[in-house]
Amino acid sequence: MKEVKSPRKPLLYYYGIVLLIIFLFNLFVTPLLSQDQVAEVDYGTFMDMIEAGNIGVVQVEDTQILFTDKNRTEVYATTPMEDPTLTERLHDAGAEFARVIEEPASPLLSLFLTIILPILIFVVLGQYMSKKLMEQAGGGKNAMAFGKSNAKVYVPSTQGIRFADVAGEDEAKESLQEIVDYLHNPDKYTQAGASMPKGILLVGPPGTGKTMLAKAVAGEAGVPFFSISGSEFVEMFVGMGASKVRDLFKQAKEKAPCIVFIDEIDAIGQKRSAGGYGGGNDEREQTLNQLLTEMDGFEGNTGVIILAATNRPESLDPALTRPGRFDRRVPVELPDLQGREAILKVHAKKIKTAEDVDFHTIARMAAGASGAELANIINEAALRAVRGGRVIVTEADLEESIEVVIAGYQKKNAVLSDQEKRVVAYHEIGHALVAAMQSHSAPVQKITIIPRTSGALGYTMQVETGDKYLMTKEEIENKIATYTGGRAAEEVAFGQITTGASNDIEQATKLARAMIARYGMSDDFDMVAMETVQNQYLGGDASLTCAPETQREIDRKVVELVKAQHAKARKLLEDNRDKLDQLAAFLYEKETITGEEFMDILRGGDNR
Ligand code: ADP
Ligand code: ZN
Repeated sequence: MKEVKSPRKPLLYYYGIVLLIIFLFNLFVTPLLSQDQVAEVDYGTFMDMIEAGNIGVVQVEDTQILFTDKNRTEVYATTPMEDPTLTERLHDAGAEFARVIEEPASPLLSLFLTIILPILIFVVLGQYMSKKLMEQAGGGKNAMAFGKSNAKVYVPSTQGIRFADVAGEDEAKESLQEIVDYLHNPDKYTQAGASMPKGILLVGPPGTGKTMLAKAVAGEAGVPFFSISGSEFVEMFVGMGASKVRDLFKQAKEKAPCIVFIDEIDAIGQKRSAGGYGGGNDEREQTLNQLLTEMDGFEGNTGVIILAATNRPESLDPALTRPGRFDRRVPVELPDLQGREAILKVHAKKIKTAEDVDFHTIARMAAGASGAELANIINEAALRAVRGGRVIVTEADLEESIEVVIAGYQKKNAVLSDQEKRVVAYHEIGHALVAAMQSHSAPVQKITIIPRTSGALGYTMQVETGDKYLMTKEEIENKIATYTGGRAAEEVAFGQITTGASNDIEQATKLARAMIARYGMSDDFDMVAMETVQNQYLGGDASLTCAPETQREIDRKVVELVKAQHAKARKLLEDNRDKLDQLAAFLYEKETITGEEFMDILRGGDNR
């Protein structure tokens, strides 16, 4: 559901329109009615007709004279004049003094036309408008019945997403293939006495294609697809969540076999005891209970398969994940290098790309991006091409849009003073140089001191050569050293420090802390977890599982660790002061340099 508009404004319009209609009716229709086809003539014509004896009926009033011709076929009207002998002359001409028009034509008819008809229009229009209004409020066809589910139904033929459209995610597709098979051929399963899981939980970070996968299951099986978001259940009106669930399942059972997809199920399925959600959210709880009741209420083989998506599986109420409910989990992970390349290629089909675009490199640069972000990168690149007045998207567009999606827009009008620019150049070269001087560091891809709207004044992009799943202790230490490299370069070159390192400090601390408290990489604590992470997706908060004294000890160790790496970085830069100066000057001048340019100077150095 998007937004519930206040009905007030439309109602005002509505009354306004009704008044206008009544007004127009009385302006145009009523006069037409009372004097049907009256021809206005001047007094002279009237006199001529009297002279000629061509008057049938006449009716003299204060404001007008109505009369007909001899054959009484036409009705005329004219404005009265001072004419004392008129009556006499009319009589002589053989006119009959009577009502020219039977009036009122019919009191019922005129009542109907002036009052009842507008009211009828009023009612019909009103119904149409309120229906429109309800549709805007997400009500769909059943809008007038509050509490009916507003699940969107997709007919597979029109919404035909197939597994082939979902790039990567092979493991997820494999587990879902069974569902497709079951929907195609339920008898096979019933005969074997096997029943399908009623509910399947798609678990993974946002934008990894969970919704797409659910649609693809429906598309592959050729069955209807109902989709509703968990937040919709609890959003609209109090007390409606439970009845919406009831209605959703009623509809689903009628349309079985079908797929019901509940996005963001954590919105209703959160642990009932979970604090912070407001002491006992009755609405949510009722909705959840209704969902559980419905799921228990139908047999496994009715052909209704419920897929639900969440990025916080650990926050779900255990009642939901019990056998017979959402007892199967399908992980939908962030794409790996291959997956990213495949997703980029899928989305690149929608745009025109230059022939030499190397999607492998782009995929490598976009490490950690979700499917949705990759789709966004493609779109940003296309927009960039359009802004440049081109139709073909180049590799440079794509590279730039990675930075846009990852680091925010390039800030074209940021004004850095000369001295600031110099400091930023040293800072960024500091990161890059420390990284390059250590083994196991990801190679530098690009260094820039063009500020981004995200607030970063510079940016050093390092790209891993492959996907990394494990990091050694040494690699983490080197990474921390690289983070401190920016600040260290400022110290070495200027003997003073700036606020520019705040993000580096955060990252370095995070890593150091994780090393000690979570990865068991300190000698004193060995493999004891000092912290657990609540939400492994969304990078949720870590909560401490140790005594306050231990906590103090951890803090001390974190400081020690970062300090040691900082000193190491500083030493590295001091020993390579000439390279630092040379590279910083080069970056200062060019503002953006590539990894190759960086390496050339670092290795040779005589050309500049
Ligand atoms: P989720 O439901 O996991 O948050 P969606 O299924 O809504 O993610 O994905 C959002 C968008 O990201 C999709 O519409 C699609 O354009 C893109 N996308 C995500 N994953 C993939 C994928 N594996 N292949 C192709 N496109 C993807
Ligand atoms: Zn930095």
